[in-house]
Amino acid sequence: MAVGHDAGPARPFGSLHDAVHQALDGLDDIGELRRFPRQVLERLGKLGVLRERWRGDCPGDVVFGAELAETVAANAPTGIAVGVSLHTESVLSMLHRFGTTDYLAELRERALDGAAIGAVAASEPTGGSDLSAVRTVAVPDAAGWRISGRKKYVSLGAVGDFVVVLCRVADRAGKPTRRLATVVVPLAEAEVTREHEKLGTHALDTVAVAFDDVLVPHEALLGRSGLGLANISYGLTFERLAVGAQILGAVGHALSLAVEHTERRSQFGAPLRSHQHLEYRLADVLVELEVLRGAVYHTARQLVDNPLERSLVARVAAVKVHAARKAEYLVSECMQMFGGAGYLPQETPLGQIWQDVRLARIGGGTDEMMLALVAGELSGAARAYDRGVRISS
Ligand SMILES: Cc1cc2nc3c(=O)[nH]c(=O)nc-3n(C[C@H](O)[C@H](O)[C@H](O)COP(=O)(O)OP(=O)(O)OC[C@H]3O[C@@H](n4cnc5c(N)ncnc54)[C@H](O)[C@@H]3O)c2cc1C
Repeated sequence: MAVGHDAGPARPFGSLHDAVHQALDGLDDIGELRRFPRQVLERLGKLGVLRERWRGDCPGDVVFGAELAETVAANAPTGIAVGVSLHTESVLSMLHRFGTTDYLAELRERALDGAAIGAVAASEPTGGSDLSAVRTVAVPDAAGWRISGRKKYVSLGAVGDFVVVLCRVADRAGKPTRRLATVVVPLAEAEVTREHEKLGTHALDTVAVAFDDVLVPHEALLGRSGLGLANISYGLTFERLAVGAQILGAVGHALSLAVEHTERRSQFGAPLRSHQHLEYRLADVLVELEVLRGAVYHTARQLVDNPLERSLVARVAAVKVHAARKAEYLVSECMQMFGGAGYLPQETPLGQIWQDVRLARIGGGTDEMMLALVAGELSGAARAYDRGVRISS
């Protein structure tokens, strides 16, 4: 399915679709990848796509970011789309908003060119939902910050150049305080302790890392000390919206394969598609996609207008949790059209897409954490209640 939005002003790279195809061109055995192919981001950078995403002031062109996520997911394994969005949405949003030092501004320029690829390290072995409990410490000294600790999940960690690390600020004696901060650390200074085997998104590497007294300059502090959690949350908001867009791409791809199959395969003397029950189920998938499309792009436009509005964070969370839960079901519906072949990974990619989209219910914050954000927006109506509710005792 085509991305249904105006191309806007002329872009240096022509259409987004063509640029994404150029970025993916020549990747051998794309289904066999076990690490993110960094040339995809390098090429998107060279073509000017990353700069187009960050045109103008922060938050840049969020709608374009969603279109990019959708287009990559429609044309490549979801793991590649997740890796692209991590860099363009999470990392670059934080670098734009909080990267005020020359050191970080220079890094941001390289990231926009695709010459430096960034990752995010927030979750730790002791927990990911409750990020206020992180134990990795940043100890200030005369030369800069000394970072020590372990992070359990760092996507792009095996191929990236730098990582935004959520740390607990320590005092000069090394005693942890209550303050959290985000610090940028070169990935070359981190020890990769494990490269995780995963159920899906194989084209995205996710690793565990350890930092053993890694020294970074004072200027590597991203934003103000004490606001680390807020900084990470800011980046996550853009990433979560991109997850919704990735699902549009991945499910749209699954749907187009399923429609094609129902036209080619016959049972009971007629193409599967002519059995109305099947065609209507496919139409139902399209209905869900169209509703989701409206939600993703409407929210993207709102983020452009007012990225700091508190209720928008909850609205993005609502879009993400809805998209993530629906994706599992919708891909499964498409898989069903293939009968037994849908369950055979050597014969159809549907099973892989199903396993890939399952990550959306966890990555960037779980369903439950999204619902916690949405729950914060629930409000009762006292007057209407008093007027309309009469409960007898
Ligand atoms: C493939 C992959 C890639 C990832 N990439 C990254 C990355 O690049 N950077 C990064 O920082 N992290 C990354 N993560 C980590 C991810 O963000 C966390 O796994 C996620 O936030 C959940 O944290 P957890 O695994 O510690 O689960 P836990 O926090 O232990 O939660 C377990 C379950 O309990 C639920 N739960 C927890 N607390 C509550 C509560 N108060 N009320 C109701 N339910 C609750 C959770 O929703 C979840 O269902 C990645 C994870 C995966 C699997």
